[in-house]
Amino acid sequence: MPAKPSAKPAAKPLWKTSGSVIHRRGLFARSAIAKGEPIIEYVGERISKAESSRRTEAQELKARKKGGGAVYIFDVNKRFDIDGNVSWNPARLINHSCEPNCEAIQTGNRIWIHALRDIAAGEELSYDYGFDLKIWRDHPCLCGSSKCVGYIVARRHWKRLASILEKQRKPAKGSAATTVPKGRKAAKAVRARKPA
Ligand SMILES: [Zn+2]
Repeated sequence: MPAKPSAKPAAKPLWKTSGSVIHRRGLFARSAIAKGEPIIEYVGERISKAESSRRTEAQELKARKKGGGAVYIFDVNKRFDIDGNVSWNPARLINHSCEPNCEAIQTGNRIWIHALRDIAAGEELSYDYGFDLKIWRDHPCLCGSSKCVGYIVARRHWKRLASILEKQRKPAKGSAATTVPKGRKAAKAVRARKPA
C-alpha cells in the first residue's frame, strides 16, 4: 500500500551535511528554516517487528561496545518499523540534542523531521532521539547544550535519570553504588510524535 506523502519537500534541500562537533557528521541548515517546516523525510528499509527486534538488539550491542547513539529504527505501526541505517537516508546523520531544534513527526506511515523553532542558516539540526531510560548508560550525550543531562534519554525520563545519577554520586552507606537494575533490556524502536 503506497503511503500518502505527509509533507511536501522543498524545491531545494534545506539541509547539507558537514562535520559536527557533537558526533562525526551532522546535518546543518543550508538556509533559514521557519518553525514547523518539514526539513527532510526519515526514510529507510521497512522491516517486520521481529526483524526490528533483532536489529535493535544488534545495534544496541554495538553501541554498548563503542558508545554513541547508533539506533536508527523508528516504530511506525503494528506491522512494520523503519530502519534508517541506510546510505540513502541522510536524516540518519542528524544528531541528538538535549535542546533540539527539530522533532520527528509521523503522519500516516511516514516520518518527517520538522523544525521545532526558527532555525538560522548554518545551525546544526538535532532532535530528541527519545531513548528509553533502560539503556541510558550506553549512550553518553555530547550535545554541548547548557541543558545537557549527560546521556541520550527521552525528556520524559530526565527526572528519573537525575535521581539515578545523584545516587551514584552519593552512594548511601552499606548500599550498592547504583540503583540501576543489572539486566538491561534491549532498546525499543523509537517513536515519532503523532500530531493530534
Ligand atoms: Zn545532551
